Parts: sequence; structure tokens; C-alpha cells
Amino acid sequence: MAHLDKVALRSIFRLRPRALPAPEDPVAPPSESRRKRLHRFGAYPVLITSIYIGGGLLWVLGGDPLLSAWLAEAGPPPVLGPLANILVVAASGGLLYRLLRFHVRTAHRAHLAQDMRLAEFIEMITDVAFIKDREGRYLLINSAGARLVGRPLTECLGQDDRALFPAEIAPKLMQADRRIIASGHLLGSEDTFDIRGERRTFQSTKWPYRDADGRIVGVIGIARDITARKQAEEQSWRARDAMETRVRERTAELVAANRTLERSIAARVQTEIALRDSEERFRQLAEHIREVFWVYDIAQERLLYVSPAYEEIWGRAVQNFQERPLDWLEAVHPNDRARIQAAHTAKLELGRLDEEYRIVRPDGAVRWIWDRGFPIRDAAGYVYRIAGLAEDITARKLADDQLRRQQVELAKMSRLSLAVELASNLAHELNQPLAAIVAYTQACLTLLREDATDPRELTGTLEEVVNQGLRAGGIIRHLRGLVQRHPAAQTEIDLNALLRAVIHYAQLELRQADITVRLELTEPLPAILADDIQIQLAVLYLMRNAIEAMQGSGNEPRELLLRTAPLDTGTVLATVRDTGHGFSPEATERLFQPFFTTKPGGMGLGLSVSRSLIESQGGRVWATPNPDRGASFHFTLPVYTHYRWPSTPA
Ligand code: ADP
Repeated sequence: MAHLDKVALRSIFRLRPRALPAPEDPVAPPSESRRKRLHRFGAYPVLITSIYIGGGLLWVLGGDPLLSAWLAEAGPPPVLGPLANILVVAASGGLLYRLLRFHVRTAHRAHLAQDMRLAEFIEMITDVAFIKDREGRYLLINSAGARLVGRPLTECLGQDDRALFPAEIAPKLMQADRRIIASGHLLGSEDTFDIRGERRTFQSTKWPYRDADGRIVGVIGIARDITARKQAEEQSWRARDAMETRVRERTAELVAANRTLERSIAARVQTEIALRDSEERFRQLAEHIREVFWVYDIAQERLLYVSPAYEEIWGRAVQNFQERPLDWLEAVHPNDRARIQAAHTAKLELGRLDEEYRIVRPDGAVRWIWDRGFPIRDAAGYVYRIAGLAEDITARKLADDQLRRQQVELAKMSRLSLAVELASNLAHELNQPLAAIVAYTQACLTLLREDATDPRELTGTLEEVVNQGLRAGGIIRHLRGLVQRHPAAQTEIDLNALLRAVIHYAQLELRQADITVRLELTEPLPAILADDIQIQLAVLYLMRNAIEAMQGSGNEPRELLLRTAPLDTGTVLATVRDTGHGFSPEATERLFQPFFTTKPGGMGLGLSVSRSLIESQGGRVWATPNPDRGASFHFTLPVYTHYRWPSTPA
């Protein structure tokens, strides 16, 4: 408080030094010496002058010899001596009176001037300021005070707090005044009350009002309206409370967030370790596979990764991608480039790629590539990368070509085999017209020998002979059209190698039909003696049937098993086993008959041709249904007579 109030008080003290306590000790009464000094000449001129004249007259009437002597010498007549004495006393008494009156008036005017300056000062200050008498009546109050109580200033003077303040606070104020008057001490307080519909807070300082003699004649007070400051303080407290609450909440949030962060950092570290491990595994895998592994980023429109196999297959540096992202496309064979360019554009939209194309290496060599791409999706399912494998399939392509050539060859062979088969079957058909011709001719001869028949009657029979002859000729011509000469060349054959070769030829078909191949080939297997082309053809027919039988087998696992084993010292047994639809027991006997088929577009010749081929090589062929699913076709072939069996351990 108190700094401002003390300043205000000091100003007042300077104005009223005689009436108020010293600044250092505002409540202490003025010192005795000072009070005497102030009233040395007294405040009562009439009394003092009367005493002076009375005393002078007594002295004159007592006959003062010195004064009388002086007056006699001075010259006035002796009769006037006592009168002159009285006049001198009276005149000097009047002079004294005037002097005293002048002093008292001057002091009074100074007093009034002081009071005026005090009133002016009180009026000037913005705080409420007042002086009350001992009964609590306002002797002085400034405009700020009058505004506070809502009355004209003049109406306030002479009133006490009961008349100016609400009933609930007036007694409190007056009680405080009484305490100040009783104790003579300064009293500071802070009071909040409702006045004229408003809640206001005042910080007030009141102290005793003393008269010139130091007697307490009332109370002086200053009250400062600190409502706004109080509200600001309360707001600031509330704001501070709110802030502290917010800080507490925020701290709790941060602690929680911190914990979550710690947990996620721990998880991240683990993920990173796992990632590093998996990246390492990925790197090792990607860098050691023969295929080119690549990752394409759709947003960046560039390859993020290309495995080192690129240099091996393309014959170009992986670093080329830094400068020319389409380095791989530049190497594509001109005849394939437009198609692959289009596939590359489509790949960005579809996220997929499955193309075969040729590339021309810097050394001029042409390589076949099988390039496949698969979409990589983010958590939202959005395709943002494509990962792919580019495989060098040149060898397979060459093998395919070779296979195609061999298939053509085989087709020729099959025609031959077919012709052979047909020959045996058509020979049976030829027997009929021949038998008919013989029969008709013998009948004609018999009739002619008996000479009982008109030769003209034989015309119809002879025409029938001609017809039968023509039919036989037609059969033979048909056969000749089918037959191509093929000299059979039996050689020493490794049946296991032959089966592997056929599997290789049929690789494409097997892969397209999603069939797994299992080989149970006995090693070493005795060499057989056969025409390899014919055995290949027979095996191919058996395998084709197996593939076709498995193609309708839904989602069941598709497996083709090739097994070889010596059956006895002179024979080798081979089995082609599938997991297809199998065959019914009734069909078992008819499977190998020519033209027996259960397939919509089938010819019914594959098995009969196979049997012809195998039997022509001294072997046998038969079929058995599998106990679980599918069918097994078995064939035997004779062991090469010069084959030397490995010696059996003793
Ligand atoms: P085609 O292929 O024209 O039908 P095939 O002589 O190859 O002639 O076969 C004759 C019939 O034998 C086939 O239609 C089929 O019913 C049956 N068959 C052949 N191989 C199998 C097999 N692996 N599983 C089940 N049935 C078979």
C-alpha cells in the first residue's frame, strides 16, 4: 500500500506542520517545546492586555517614585502626575492589545490558508479523502468521496457514515473510526462492499486528526478504489489457475505422449533391426538369384532397385539407370520395342506386367527375356510400387524351338505310327473285300465249269468283284497317303535321360497346366535297346493324356510322377502316373483300342499308337487305376543285351 499513501500523507504533513504529526511518526503528538513556541504570545489578547493594564494601574496608584520623579522632571504640572501615569499604562496596554490581536489574526489567517490548501489538496487527489470529527461527521470530503456515495459534496458535510453508506457497512466504518480515536494509531484496511448496485473494493488508510494542542479531534482518511485492480488480480489468479490446470493437463498429455513415443521408438528400433535383417536377407537373395530383380516407383517414375544380374543378362551397367532410367528399354529388340513400350505404360496403370521379349546385348547377342511385375500396395491398398523379375529364358526358348521342330518330327512320326497302326487295322478291313472277291470269283468259276449258266448272268457277280477290288484299292491308297517311310533304328538308350528330355519338351504345357513333376528314376538304370524317337513319341502320348486328365481336376493338387526301375534282368519298367480323373473299370479293356475316346474332340488313337510303338520295340504297355486318384500307365522295354549290370556287392 502504502508507498503512494505515504507520499500523499507527507504532502499533507508539509501543509499542516502544526496540526499534524511529524512525517517520520505520523501518529505521535507534537513536542512540548514546539507547542509552546507556537503559542508563546498567547491566543487571548484581551485577557493579557487587561492583566497588563491592571498591573500597571496598581503599580501607578501605589506611587512609583521613579516614574513620578521622571514625569516631574519632564515638566508636566504636578497635578497631572497620577493621571499621566494612568494614561501611559493605558496607552501601552492598548498598544499591547493591538500587537496581540495582530498576531492572533495573522495566525488565524495562516490557519485558514492552511485549511484551504488542505481542502484544495484533498480535492485534487483522485482517491477518496475526508476528515471527520470525533462523532464521525464529515468535516471535509473531496469530490471523489461525494461521487462514491452519490451525493453532492455539500450534502455530505456534517453527515456521518450512517447517512451516506448502506446500513450494513456504515457501522463497520464508524467502528474503525472509534478505534483510531481511542488508540491514536493509523489503521489500514481493505473493504469490499456493494454500493449503488456495484461491488467495490477500497483500500483505506485512516489516522487520527489532531488539533494544535495535539488532541484528537477526528479522523483523516484516504480510500483508494482498487476494484479494477482486484478484478484484474482475480482474473490473473483465475488465469493462473486455469493456466496451471492447463499446464498440469498438458504435462500429463506430454508424459503420456512421451511414453507412447518411447514405446513406438522401441518398436521402431525393433522393426528397424528386423528390417535391417530382412533387408540384408533381401539383398543377399536379390544379388544372388539369376533373375534380374527390380523395383519400380510409380510416383517417382523410375527404377529404385535393379539387381546385379542385370549386368549379366543385359550386358549393361546397373549405374546406367542413374542417367537413363529407360536403359533396359533401349536394349529391347527393335521388333519388340513398341509392344514392350506399350506394356511398360500399361504396367504403370495396372501394376502388372507379363511379357516375353528379346534384347540385343552390346556384343550383338540376342537374349529372350520373360519379364513379370507384381503390384506392391501400401496400407490403404494403393499401388505405389511394382516389383518384378526378369528372367533370361533364351535357353528355354531355344529348347522350345527345338521341341517345336521335334514335335513336327514327332508328328511326322506319329503319322507313320498311325499308318502302322492303321495298316494293321486296315489289313483287317482289306481282308473283307479280298475275301469277298475270292468268294465271288470262286462262285463264278464254279458256275462256268458247270456250263449250266448263261455267262451274261454272271455280270452282276463280276461287277461286285470289281467293286470289292476298287474298295480294296481305295483302302490301300488311303493307307499309302498316311504312311511315310521311316527306317527304325534301334540303339542303346538311357531311358531316364529320355524321360527327362520329354519332360523338358513338355515343360511349357506342364507349367501352363500348373502341374508339378516328380521324378523317381532309379539310378543307374540298365540301358534299353529301342528306337528313341518311337519311345519318345509313346511317352509323349502318355504324358499328354495325363496332362489332359488332370486339367479338369479343379483345385486338387496336380502331380505327374515318372518312375523307372528294372523289372527283371532283361526288362525295364517305366510308369507314368497322374492325379487326374482316372478311368472307369469298364473302360479298362477298351482304352487301347483304336478310335476309343471319351474326349469331345478326341481321335482315340494316342494309346493304340503308343502300344504299337512300344510293342514294336519288344515291350508291353498297360494301364491301372490308382487307389486314390488318377491313373497309371506302365510299359516295359527290353534291356540292351550287352548291358553290363553293376556287380552286386558280396
Ligand atoms: P484320345 O486322346 O483321342 O482320347 P487316346 O487313345 O489317347 O485317345 O485315349 C483314349 C481314351 O483313354 C481317352 O479318351 C481317355 O478316356 C482314356 N485315357 C487315356 N489316358 C488316360 C489317363 N491318363 N487317365 C484317364 N483316362 C485316360
